[in-house]
Amino acid sequence: MALPLPDDAPVKDETVADRLARRIAREGSIGVADYMAEANAHYYATRDPLGRSGDFITAPEISQMFGELIGVWLADLWLRAGKPEGTRYVELGPGRGTLAQDALRALRGTGLEPPLDLVEISPTLRRAQAERLPPARWHETMATVPGNGPLLVVANEFFDALPVRQHALGGGELRVRLEEGRFRRDAAEALVEDSPASIEAVGALARRLVAQGGAALIADYGHDRPGVGETLQAVAGHRYADPWEAPGTRDLTAHVDFSALAEAARSAGARVFGPVGQGDWLEAMGIQLRAASLAKAAPERTEEIAAARDRLTGPAQMGRLFKVVALVAPGWPQPAGF
Ligand code: SAH
Repeated sequence: MALPLPDDAPVKDETVADRLARRIAREGSIGVADYMAEANAHYYATRDPLGRSGDFITAPEISQMFGELIGVWLADLWLRAGKPEGTRYVELGPGRGTLAQDALRALRGTGLEPPLDLVEISPTLRRAQAERLPPARWHETMATVPGNGPLLVVANEFFDALPVRQHALGGGELRVRLEEGRFRRDAAEALVEDSPASIEAVGALARRLVAQGGAALIADYGHDRPGVGETLQAVAGHRYADPWEAPGTRDLTAHVDFSALAEAARSAGARVFGPVGQGDWLEAMGIQLRAASLAKAAPERTEEIAAARDRLTGPAQMGRLFKVVALVAPGWPQPAGF
């Protein structure tokens, strides 16, 4: 009798490393993107990685000012677009839901309480989002976000978590193999990375904006122009770690290639603004004023607020490596801050 189970059916209590090793034993090797996708899916599904006790911290977890200024940016566009009916708030990879909470507060101030659509693969983080946010719908990708009205979209540190491929400069794709029980990526004198998953995601997003109206703010760390060299990295407990060890237990990310994202969005018909440094953008959006008014409301927290502002905007901190890019539907107003 043939067993009605595929060869790659999960084995009970198997770790991600076991599963990847089994797959490599079967197929000889796997691509870096497959390795990264499988490792991250498990990593995010099984923990809340954010914050001091986790593996890394993100801008919305540093200060409420970040989400608020994004909310102000979205609200300003929505108002100048003439307060279109049927507008939805969409967030890609919303983490703990902190950014959405802060942004939605700013939107409420202008009279907009949009339905929420959250693109999130992690069941653990979906639960965290449900605790903090008004009723929402969850999606695996943008494809199932309903409606044909304008979309106000936010993605912070989403694209850096999407899988990249690696190629030898001028040569073939680099593969991941097993050597004496360890994962080893093919050696190359120089390598380049690309991310078909990111191109697909930004293309899908841009097509929806072009068809329905709206705008997206994408914030992430990365470079303006594609470069040569490896940017894939692993972080665990706020320290760099080996990406080829213990997959699924550490966060794998790669620099976002903003020029590739911009090109994909433009070729789908969206208008693209930026990238600009996160520091410059937050300054242009009025982070100094916001910090001053928060400090006035809570004088005992003045130092903490100033430190958070510096961390978000300082060129040696998150101000320069992190960048902000906007996608805007044709016919929508010019976005603030660019
Ligand atoms: N935006 C949040 C979280 C960033 S961490 C913040 O700034 O704090 C990356 C987020 O993207 C997590 O919520 C993670 O679960 C989600 N994510 C990672 N890969 C994903 C994928 N392929 N599809 C949807 N969500 C994904």
